[in-house]
Amino acid sequence: MMRRFRADLHLHTVLSPCADLAMSPDEIITVAQQKQLDIIAITDHNSTKQCRVVREMAADSGIVVINGCEVNSLEEVHSLCLFEDDHSMNEFQAFIEHYLPQIPNKPNYFGYQVVVDRDNQIVEEMPWYLGNGLQVELETIADFIHQLNGLFIPAHIDRPMNSLFSQLGFLPHELKIDAMQISKRAQESQIRKLFDIHPDITLIKASDAHYPEDIGTACTIFELAKPSFEEIRWALNQKKGRSVKIEE
Ligand SMILES: [Zn+2]
Ligand SMILES: [Zn+2]
Repeated sequence: MMRRFRADLHLHTVLSPCADLAMSPDEIITVAQQKQLDIIAITDHNSTKQCRVVREMAADSGIVVINGCEVNSLEEVHSLCLFEDDHSMNEFQAFIEHYLPQIPNKPNYFGYQVVVDRDNQIVEEMPWYLGNGLQVELETIADFIHQLNGLFIPAHIDRPMNSLFSQLGFLPHELKIDAMQISKRAQESQIRKLFDIHPDITLIKASDAHYPEDIGTACTIFELAKPSFEEIRWALNQKKGRSVKIEE
């Protein structure tokens, strides 16, 4: 039997330079519970390093936390990447670290890039600015994510900056995607028409929260038998009777 799960698959934490320092693991879980979310994904810019603590802290909350990140490519396209386990996430973290330009962050200008523990104590500060594009093409990134059995979802495709359509103008034939994400105020039917998006391509909506009050303000409903990574993959790819619907 299928059940409905409310998901917000694009959330930033304290680790993203542009996100509020109030976006701590405990605050994210607390607000996600208040907003009655069932599934969230942690998607910091070019880093997966805050995922583990958020997931551990959510263990008794009933909320499923998916490992992820919002990767920025050489073409300056932002995409959500989701990973099934720590092994594939760590492989992707090494990939990011290999291709991230070693340009120091300027905390006073861009904001702090810190990893915190369960008690909200800083355990690591990331030296290189996480907002830069990796020195590797979008297609190579997507291929590597799929090699790791992960999910690849171009982010906020309707935005005039850092989106697939703003940077490339079209969806390349060779680029394998699992879905596309539209931003909070976008209308699915308008976006489909504007960019001529085929019905086979699933669109999701997510908040792209940088502040606690943004969490859960844009959601997607997943129809799944259970909230597993495999079922989410089927739903995004419109398989096995699993499905996805943007919450209006
Ligand atoms: Zn973005
Ligand atoms: Zn984002």
